[in-house]
Amino acid sequence: MNYSAETIFFAVQRCLNGERSLTVARQLNISQASINTWRKKYQGLSLNEIENLLNVVKLKNVIHLNRSLNIKSGQKFGKLTAIEPLKELKGNCWKFQCECGKVINKAVTKVYRGYTRSCGCLRKEYYKKTYIVNWIKNQKCY
Ligand SMILES: [Zn+2]
Repeated sequence: MNYSAETIFFAVQRCLNGERSLTVARQLNISQASINTWRKKYQGLSLNEIENLLNVVKLKNVIHLNRSLNIKSGQKFGKLTAIEPLKELKGNCWKFQCECGKVINKAVTKVYRGYTRSCGCLRKEYYKKTYIVNWIKNQKCY
């Protein structure tokens, strides 16, 4: 559950003013454990300071979400098919099989956003094609 800075601030204030955390918790329909955590974390802070702290946590969550992009095995990205996640590597890396048969380890974010579409053979193929096209062109020139 996400609570607003106001909710946290006023709950902590009420405890400071002598109300029991259990009473505050019941009235606000929040668990007593949350109130106690808030008191430890936020007691003595202004509403603004609590807001800032909450925003930092939100930012961290966004970054965390990016890291744990959900992909499924069998999902295709260009020439790459996701096989399985690699737990031993830091970050969110998966094993991908390329259409050419090669198996590579790549960061999910890169594949997901389209930076990586093949094991590298796509690029090689492209160069090979342009090389042949240029070669034919050059042949015609002579
Ligand atoms: Zn390939």
